[in-house]
Amino acid sequence: GFCVYNDAAVAIRGLLDAGAQRVAYVDVDAHHGDGVEAVFWDDPRVLTVSVHESGRTLFPGTGFPQDCGGPGAEGTAVNVALPAGTTTAGWARAIEAVVPAVVRSFAPDVLVTQHGCDAHVLDPLTNLRVSVDGFRWAAGLLHGLAHEVTGGRWLALGGGGYAVVDVVPRAWAILVAEAAHADLDPATPLPAAWLEHAARYPHAHALPVGGEPTSLTDGETVTVRGWAAGYDPADDVDRAVRATRRAVFPHLGLDVELD
Ligand SMILES: [Zn+2]
Repeated sequence: GFCVYNDAAVAIRGLLDAGAQRVAYVDVDAHHGDGVEAVFWDDPRVLTVSVHESGRTLFPGTGFPQDCGGPGAEGTAVNVALPAGTTTAGWARAIEAVVPAVVRSFAPDVLVTQHGCDAHVLDPLTNLRVSVDGFRWAAGLLHGLAHEVTGGRWLALGGGGYAVVDVVPRAWAILVAEAAHADLDPATPLPAAWLEHAARYPHAHALPVGGEPTSLTDGETVTVRGWAAGYDPADDVDRAVRATRRAVFPHLGLDVELD
């Protein structure tokens, strides 16, 4: 998307060169992970999964469900294109309905994840409405998946995020804490020294001075309705999720309805 150098693709190539047989890349940045997908489009050793705001409303305009990978690598590109306005509940439901199943089925040696935090409701560039609590939930899910599937071999990367004072530092702190197995209380107050420092940059705030966040998360309770609980054809998020499952699950030996 925005990057001159594709650090994620370089890392994945490095892992393959170092002997990894299969690498899974999961990208929850609000923008389509177009660069990593393009680099490994024809490579059956690399599964790329991107959960993003639909290209109909967001740059770079790519990443649709039917884009599944090149010849010989069908099913190794997975795209969940969410409608503008998707909230934490829908975002988490989409991740839960697609990511664990495809990663388990692919059975990688290493999990590489990209935790761009621009899906946040305060982000100025995108139209998703996820909370920091949603990012915390996703980091926990992906971390658990790494322990389950890859013996804990997990490379967690940052990504986009343009609410640089009100969202990004909290999102990265939570990710680092998750990777370090440090259980931070979501209500942890932000350090006074940080708030003082941040107050010096009023124009970088997504919220008016005085309204900025003062604790680690946004205090939202994340409840995920699992796919097994049923599919609602009237729901935009459900239709987006189902389109991805229909396009890609058969290639991976997964059942569109049941897995
Ligand atoms: Zn982004």
